[in-house]
Amino acid sequence: MFRRSSTASVETPGKPGGLNRKVWATNAPVWIANVAEEPTLKRREAALQAGLRSAFAFSILVRGEFYGVMEFFSRDIRPRDERVLEIAQTVAHQIGQFIARNHAEAALRVANEQLTRKAQELTRSNAELEQFAYVASHDLQEPLRMISSYTQLILRRYGDRLDSDAREFMDFVVDGATRMKQLIEDLLAYSRVGTHGKEFERTDCEAVLQKARANLRAAIETHGAVITQDPLPTLEADDTQLVQLFQNLLGNAIKFRGSKAPTIHISAQEHGPTWLFGVEDKGIGIDPQYFERIFMVFQRLHNKAEYPGTGIGLAICKKVVDRHGGRIWVESKPDQGSKFCFTLPKKREIHS
Ligand code: ADP
Repeated sequence: MFRRSSTASVETPGKPGGLNRKVWATNAPVWIANVAEEPTLKRREAALQAGLRSAFAFSILVRGEFYGVMEFFSRDIRPRDERVLEIAQTVAHQIGQFIARNHAEAALRVANEQLTRKAQELTRSNAELEQFAYVASHDLQEPLRMISSYTQLILRRYGDRLDSDAREFMDFVVDGATRMKQLIEDLLAYSRVGTHGKEFERTDCEAVLQKARANLRAAIETHGAVITQDPLPTLEADDTQLVQLFQNLLGNAIKFRGSKAPTIHISAQEHGPTWLFGVEDKGIGIDPQYFERIFMVFQRLHNKAEYPGTGIGLAICKKVVDRHGGRIWVESKPDQGSKFCFTLPKKREIHS
């Protein structure tokens, strides 16, 4: 009977050696029927002294690459036996697969650990950033209020003693302070999406849309906006944030309307575990190169004289959709209109 020798070892192909080297060189099993008649066997003397008379060896491949050579010695002289070799090949194949699987599992474990660590770091730094934005914008409001009220006081009390240049400069200060106030409020609103979100509850999107429309009544009436809609579903969500989402998208569809009265359609389609919503307008459209940028904080494509705004609306929309576990994107052609699409899962899934 063949016994696995205690000398089963792993060698590199470049190294000189007897049995192992032959296996590497030929990539085929090597059978030595009689060790005594094999002068090229490096460990011939040692094998004979140990009473080992025949040997065979075969390679172990892991993903097609040499991993090692396994060798067996026997105390009997044994002629080449194809059946034994076949069994050995099968075993070698399985060992190779086992090692490959082990390697893959170890690599996967490392990758998973890294991913978990990165996700934890990201969640922490995100929370810190939100907290920072919240505190910074909250605390900035106070000194800003002072700047505004004292410049207004100077204008009121000393206005008639200022020449026209000085009054114009003071107007710039008031203008700047007002704009900064708006930016701070927007930043606060943005950070609150993460820090002040409500628990998700069953939310009727019909009611959400009604509320968003009511908040925009003045703009809808002023510009004669025609809004049509599909029946909207009920899902688990933060209703206040959904109102904000619909209101920002509808508000933009009205604001960026172009020369005609705005016509807007709100769609909703069921897609497995999620709903796909669309807010489509026939307005000025967006150049595809800006499709990503417009969702970033304070990124806008027009100056405030052309279209008022601070560029926070879509960043808030993205944050709300992210928190609900959905995705938001835009499809648009310049001068033809835009369709803002977003998905929302039907069931509760908090991503804060
Ligand atoms: P704001 O409306 O204050 O500029 P948003 O973040 O809501 O900020 O929008 C960012 C930019 O995306 C806008 O300045 C505009 O250029 C573009 N945009 C948003 N909605 C539309 C739309 N419906 N049609 C065309 N452009 C749009």
